[in-house]
Amino acid sequence: MNRLNNIAIIGGGITGMAAAYYAKQAGAHVTLYESSDRVGGKIKTVYRDGFVLECGPDGYMARKPTLTELITKLGLDEQLVRSQTGTSYIYVRNKLRQMPAGSVMGIPTKFWPMVKTDLFTWRGKARAGMDLVLPRVYAGEDISLDTFFRTRLGSEVVESMIEPLLSGIYNGTLQDMSIESTFPQFITIEQKTRSLILGMKALTPPVQAGVKPREAGKFLSLQNGLGILIEALRPSIDRLYTDTRVASVRPHEIELEDGTIEQFDGIILATSPNALGPILGIPEAERLSQLKRTSSITVLAAFDEKDVAALDGTGYVIAKAEANALTACSWMHKKWPHMAPKGKALLRVYIGSDHVPGLLAATDQAIAEFALNELRKIQHVGTPLFTKVERHVDTMPQYEVGHKQHVHAFEHALAALDGVEACGAILHGVGLPDCVDSAKQAVTRAMTAKQVVRS
Ligand SMILES: Cc1cc2nc3c(=O)[nH]c(=O)nc-3n(C[C@H](O)[C@H](O)[C@H](O)COP(=O)(O)OP(=O)(O)OC[C@H]3O[C@@H](n4cnc5c(N)ncnc54)[C@H](O)[C@@H]3O)c2cc1C
Repeated sequence: MNRLNNIAIIGGGITGMAAAYYAKQAGAHVTLYESSDRVGGKIKTVYRDGFVLECGPDGYMARKPTLTELITKLGLDEQLVRSQTGTSYIYVRNKLRQMPAGSVMGIPTKFWPMVKTDLFTWRGKARAGMDLVLPRVYAGEDISLDTFFRTRLGSEVVESMIEPLLSGIYNGTLQDMSIESTFPQFITIEQKTRSLILGMKALTPPVQAGVKPREAGKFLSLQNGLGILIEALRPSIDRLYTDTRVASVRPHEIELEDGTIEQFDGIILATSPNALGPILGIPEAERLSQLKRTSSITVLAAFDEKDVAALDGTGYVIAKAEANALTACSWMHKKWPHMAPKGKALLRVYIGSDHVPGLLAATDQAIAEFALNELRKIQHVGTPLFTKVERHVDTMPQYEVGHKQHVHAFEHALAALDGVEACGAILHGVGLPDCVDSAKQAVTRAMTAKQVVRS
């Protein structure tokens, strides 16, 4: 084998698997090391009694095209499905209340729905309207989402709508979250139009007559679950080692936990963030590994449809002030009809990080019962056909204020390690398309370096 083609990838989540694909396409011989007993990382699809159970991510935002392009290249585009759009709710002040029509990522953009909604008091609505006249908040230095939105739209809109919607994506709190690293598009909008309401309104295309809600959906998944994406990527790997932890990486060399040393032209790190520091042993990587991460637990519960309150919509998020352990509940059978057989319902609830530490040691059954009890405070559900509990321990990196500087320092330090690249959720976005994007870029850098070596 020509050693110049020899690439090692460390970590078999979506990032590492996509990196394997791009490296293979570029003509490399690919070896992938995965410390657990399976590839897929956070993507985990389980099939049971006709249900498609997504234990981790269930779909992705189509806005960034790299993942859809990858799915198309893999020949899976026939399997693409769009989430059903429909009414969504927020549980606030002991009641499920409809999200005002025209709200985009928690920002109201339509006048009458905002006037009519029972989500906010008149004082809260008037305060949100001040966005139209307030000066710009972002002044070139990173601030938290909480500071940004509270200043622009006031506390009520933040606590009753924006916080439950946006903090759920990162399983964090708006106070911690960096606007530059999580939702920089809000900075762009504010810079352009000053008012968020007017800026978001200008961005939202009017719903055209004749366009089915299904066609307007922007959240995509695969008919047989995201697990098939991982399976389709697997043939890109020439040598796959599961149950194999990489202990350290030096230029062109990796050392496994058992002391085996192997050499490669290029090494691509696609591990979870906590592994970067120990593997690389440089302060900038240690710093990334020490950044805050949160845990969550998801519980999937399958029912006969008659045993679930008939609700018209795709689910709800829960405001923090409600003191419920759940942060959200997705009606998966409505959001993704392919995930449940006819006549059945599938709910997925998220237990927030504040309640997780006490629950981690509990049995699956105890966790499921706890989740169902919390759920019953909000909506009627009968006895489930079965439940599936998934613990996500320490997995979600928090992009706190100043995150970009840490990433920049890390990437600068990494550039000094010849033949070593890094990608994944800790760097430039936690969404699946972000991960695939970063894998593609890491492979491009690795292969460009290879060409330099060749010439
Ligand atoms: C509950 C939940 C729901 C989510 N929902 C969505 C969603 O709907 N849409 C979306 O876009 N995003 C979602 N996300 C985010 C998204 O799933 C993740 O950001 C993404 O899957 C991360 O992929 P990754 O490959 O970078 O990391 P991971 O999936 O964590 O993979 C890293 C792999 O590296 C391995 N590893 C670690 N250390 C070593 C070592 N030393 N040697 C060898 N291998 C090692 C790990 O075992 C793991 O398999 C969700 C996340 C969670 C937790």
